[in-house]
Amino acid sequence: MIQEAVTYNDVLLVPQYSDIKSRNEVKLTSNLSDNQFRLPIIASPMDTVSEKDMVVAMADEGGLAIVHRYNTIEEQANIVEHSIANLVNPDSSVAAAIGTSGDYLERAVTLVDHGANILCVDVAHGHHILMKQVLQELRGRLNDSVHIMAGNVATLEGYNDLVDWGADSVRCNIGGGSICSTRIQTGHGVPGLHTIIDCARSDRNVPIIADGGIRNSGDIVKALAAGADFVMLGSLLSGTNETPGNIINTREGKFKAYRGMASKDAQVEWRGRTASLEGIATTVPCKGPVRDILLELERGIRSGLSYSGARSITELQAKARFIRQTSSGQTESGTHILR
Ligand code: IMP
Repeated sequence: MIQEAVTYNDVLLVPQYSDIKSRNEVKLTSNLSDNQFRLPIIASPMDTVSEKDMVVAMADEGGLAIVHRYNTIEEQANIVEHSIANLVNPDSSVAAAIGTSGDYLERAVTLVDHGANILCVDVAHGHHILMKQVLQELRGRLNDSVHIMAGNVATLEGYNDLVDWGADSVRCNIGGGSICSTRIQTGHGVPGLHTIIDCARSDRNVPIIADGGIRNSGDIVKALAAGADFVMLGSLLSGTNETPGNIINTREGKFKAYRGMASKDAQVEWRGRTASLEGIATTVPCKGPVRDILLELERGIRSGLSYSGARSITELQAKARFIRQTSSGQTESGTHILR
C-alpha cells in the first residue's frame, strides 16, 4: 500500500470565526530553548544567504540567520564574532552550522568560544548514525545553555531519534528546497507539509523547523498551522542586499547568485571537488533590503493567523482546519485574471 502525502499547494486553511479586531493583536513569537524570537523565521545556513550582514539584519528584525559552514573554522568564527559587534541588541542569539565529519568538534567549540549560542548540525540526511554520535558528543562537551538544532529529517521516527540523541530543535523536510535535486538524484524525500504534519504527531516537544520549499507567506502560515514552530527560508531571502556575493549586472537587470550547498559550484568552491550533486546553482533578481521582504511576510502571516481566528502560533495550531484542494482549486487559488 503506497501512502499519499500532501504538500503546501495541495491544501488550504479554512477561514474561521475571528474576534481579532487588529492584526497587531496577533503575536508571532516563538522560542528555541530560552531564546525568544519576535518572528518565527530563520535564514538558511547557505553561502549565498547567511553571513554577517544577514545575521545582523535577521537579529534586528526579530528572526535568526545561521552562519553557513562552507568556510574555515577561523572564517566562520570571525563572522560570528563580527556579527556580535554589530548587533543592535547584544543579547540577540547568534547561530552557526557544523557538519558531522572532519573538524566538526573543534568547529563547535571554537564557534561557542566566539559567542555562538545556537549550533546547527547541518547535514542532508540527518537520521544517521553519525548524527547520533555527534549529538551525543556535543551534549557531553558543550554547556547546556548552547541550543543544538539538528537535521534534516523527513519522518516522525527521524524527528524522535534526533530529539532522543540530544537535539533541542529539528529541521524537517528532505528534498523540498527550491534549489534541491535530492528527490531527482536519489528518488528519496517526502512532500514538505506531510513531514511537518508527521513530526508534529510526536510526544517529544522540541521546536519543529519547516525547512525548504516555502514560497510565500501563505506557505509559512500553512507550515505553522501544521505544527512547525519556525520556518527556514533560503530562496525567499536570496537576492537581498544582505546576502553574500556580488551583484551581477545584465541587460535584464541586477542579479545575485543563489545555489544549493550540494550544487557543483558550492562544492567546488568549498573543497575543490564534488561528491553527490544534489543541488543546483542559479541567479535571482536583486530584491533590496531583507527588512522589506520580512515586513511583507510578517503582514501576510499576521493576516493568515487572523483568518483562522488565532492570536498566536499555538492558537493557530489548535484551531487550524486544513482542506485538500483539487487541481482546479489550485488554479482558482492563484491569481487567474483572463486576458
Ligand atoms: P528554499 O527556501 O526552498 O530555497 O530551501 C532552502 C533549503 O534547502 C535549505 O534550508 C536547506 O535545507 C536546503 N538545501 C540547501 N542546499 C541544498 C542542496 O544543495 N540540496 C538540497 N537541499 C539544499
